[in-house]
Amino acid sequence: MKILVINAGSSSLKFQLYSMENEAVLAKGKVERIGMDSAIASFEPDGKPEIREVSEILEHTSAIRKVLDMLVHKQYGVLGSIQDIDAVGHRVVHGGESFSGSVLVDEDVKREIKRLFDLAPLHNPAHMLGIHAVEANMPEVPQVVVFDTAFHQTMPPQSYLYPIPMVLYKKHKIRRYGFHGTSHAYVSERAAMLLQRPLQELKLISCHIGNGASCTAVMNGKSYDTSMGMTPLEGLMMGTRSGDIDPAIVPYAMGKEDLTLGEVNSMLNKHSGLMAISGISSDMREILESMEAGDKNAALAFEMYEYRLRKYIGAYAAAMNGLDAIVFTAGVGENSPALRKAVCTNLTFLGVELDEQANAARSPEDRRISTERSRVQVLVIPTNEELVIARDTHQLILNRLNVV
Ligand code: AMP
Repeated sequence: MKILVINAGSSSLKFQLYSMENEAVLAKGKVERIGMDSAIASFEPDGKPEIREVSEILEHTSAIRKVLDMLVHKQYGVLGSIQDIDAVGHRVVHGGESFSGSVLVDEDVKREIKRLFDLAPLHNPAHMLGIHAVEANMPEVPQVVVFDTAFHQTMPPQSYLYPIPMVLYKKHKIRRYGFHGTSHAYVSERAAMLLQRPLQELKLISCHIGNGASCTAVMNGKSYDTSMGMTPLEGLMMGTRSGDIDPAIVPYAMGKEDLTLGEVNSMLNKHSGLMAISGISSDMREILESMEAGDKNAALAFEMYEYRLRKYIGAYAAAMNGLDAIVFTAGVGENSPALRKAVCTNLTFLGVELDEQANAARSPEDRRISTERSRVQVLVIPTNEELVIARDTHQLILNRLNVV
């Protein structure tokens, strides 16, 4: 079975084509600058050089058309025909309280995703454009949606409610939803395999540290608490997002700096975090380079970033009353020995003992970076959200075939 995985943004669209027999990626790529006359489509067939084409792509239906054209291209394509695609799986950021798992797209599901536009105004409308674009190009092909929030629907009320008037939850569904759920779920399962223990018996803290960053307490295989909240702004310090701040700063800064709501929102989402403190970049590689060159602001940004993550790890160990393993994943988590070392060196009270050599070694594999006698294991597990989307899509299509 061949599954096309799509992550549609407002002006870009990423895709991967999977062959589910061996879970191989046959091709991947993206279309960027959708809406412009010089949109860029890039296409990487497995094991072959990347193709890049610039053309006018004004909306998502044309972007999907372009993806399909590349997939069946006579010279560099990987499919004989578009009919070879059995199903399409979409990443959808917000599933609210309606979705605790992946589902086949039908009219009710589309209506519900639309109803959730308010909660994820930057993401869900773009995902919907992706769903409609596939429908327009391949009306017969079944589609599945996989939600970033779904894994966190197991959180108990003490984790997901905010201590504010209940009417805001009851009327407007203001609560913690959490994000990066597909990644936290995937690395937790891999962690159990690496530890050779049943996931249902483990207390894990999964740290997805990329441009966006979140940390999840995974108890007995379920999300128990997570650092992102009603939106992805809460929690850890990130590339350009502030993470946790005193909410009273918002009206105060608005008054002092004469900011509008839109401006303060943009400040906290796009001009804070590593970027704001270092004054250099939101990219951890540049922060590390500047630190090595002696830049004090970069060093402060790194220190705050690490400290805030470490505080969450301490809090979640307390929340679960125990901890078996800490898992690092995503761009920074997988690739920065410096960040992992800074965090783990200060967690000795929990029984964390880092194997410095294993931490410094580079590898694309799942691996343990704590010593044999470390009471809490430390693991690095490369995430693969696209594979989870492909697997969920595959499973739902198989279920449907069995039912019919
Ligand atoms: P992601 O959002 O998962 O793609 O992660 C992006 C982040 O990972 C950026 O801040 C990158 O600087 C960071 N990153 C990627 N490679 C490295 C590396 N080798 N060392 C440190 N940070 C890295």
